[in-house]
Amino acid sequence: MAEKFIPVADIRYAARVPHIPAQLTAPTGLLSDTLARPLRDLRISVTDRCNFRCSYCMPSEVFNKDYAFLPQTSLLSFEEITRLTKIFVAHGVEKIRLTGGEPLLRKHLEVLIEMLARLQTPEGKPLDITLTTNASLLARKAQSLKDAGLQRVTVSLDGLDDATFRRMNDVDFPVADVLKGIEVAQKVGLAPLKINMVVKRGTNDAEILPMARHFRNSGVVLRFIEYMDVGATNGWRMDEVMPSTQVIERINAEFPVSAIDPNYLGETAERWRYNDGGGEIGVISSVTHAFCGGCNRARLSTEGKLFLCLFASQGHDLRALLRNGAGDDQIAGAVGHIWQDRTDRYSELRAALPADTSLTKPGEKRVEMSYIGG
Ligand code: SAM
Ligand code: SF4
Ligand code: SF4
Repeated sequence: MAEKFIPVADIRYAARVPHIPAQLTAPTGLLSDTLARPLRDLRISVTDRCNFRCSYCMPSEVFNKDYAFLPQTSLLSFEEITRLTKIFVAHGVEKIRLTGGEPLLRKHLEVLIEMLARLQTPEGKPLDITLTTNASLLARKAQSLKDAGLQRVTVSLDGLDDATFRRMNDVDFPVADVLKGIEVAQKVGLAPLKINMVVKRGTNDAEILPMARHFRNSGVVLRFIEYMDVGATNGWRMDEVMPSTQVIERINAEFPVSAIDPNYLGETAERWRYNDGGGEIGVISSVTHAFCGGCNRARLSTEGKLFLCLFASQGHDLRALLRNGAGDDQIAGAVGHIWQDRTDRYSELRAALPADTSLTKPGEKRVEMSYIGG
């Protein structure tokens, strides 16, 4: 059946049209890949556009006025996203994260959230639905997102110093507006709110302590993320990575912290708590402490390609199946096979090599974070 499909997709990233197995078996929710990892978490990119130009993600030299973003017709519709999500849920997905680009730029996103909030796991439980945002539009949208059924949000914020923040977002966006978005989100009950701070040595590491001081005792969980070598445009260098151990050392010198257990298997952040009861922080050590062993995440791009790893260069074109009339049982069969064949563990393999080594083969193009979502 696969041969019948003509991939009409934008060819910016390689993608295979998935094979539909001859024998279809209903999803059991118990899928596991070649490394015995289940499928639990689906990250859905709803747009490849963004109003920021963070240098580590969408450097303005590349994502400029000549950059060809996806045309509207390439995007999955809300019906298509919901249909695919339902299939993933039947395979075991419990958690949905909407991302992008900047997800709040997608028109009528609340409608999609309402549609997703109606889905249930096979055990009849609601899905855990969250969203990652730069918060530039959050103050305006928090209430309608909450009303649509969104439970919580993660806000990306790389510092409190206005000049540093404006430099990092590279569109001169003021930090005060992001803080306002955070405040409104908390007020409407999008909780527990998490903040992601990407730490780039020499750029914003001086913001680690001010951020820790600001968000202590606020109910917000601040997480420090190591600057990753995702995509092919950010000019990543190992010497700009600030290892999480050093972040924790700095914080511990002012506010002693202790490690705490993960909330669940496969959690990306290592958790710490302030010894004086000031709350919790986390570190995501994607570079120095790879966590592929518990990676239960799949990513659906804006145009419906399924990626099994943040560092993949090849996707699986689920939109081709949707738009060529495949049935839910056929798409579920194809997804089941894709996950069962999964071998990805990029960060673990790369960690075993000398610094600054990439595993991406010549001629392969790694997906950008703004296309696949974080
Ligand atoms: N625009 C939204 C935002 O910034 O929250 C959602 C999409 S953004 C791609 C998702 C997350 O990826 C953000 O928290 C961002 O900081 C993170 N990110 C992007 N590029 C990164 C990199 N090179 N290393 C580490 N994290 C990165
Ligand atoms: Fe935009 Fe988020 Fe990427 Fe920054 S990290 S450029 S806000 S998509
Ligand atoms: Fe998962 Fe790939 Fe990241 Fe490993 S490198 S944790 S497999 S996304």
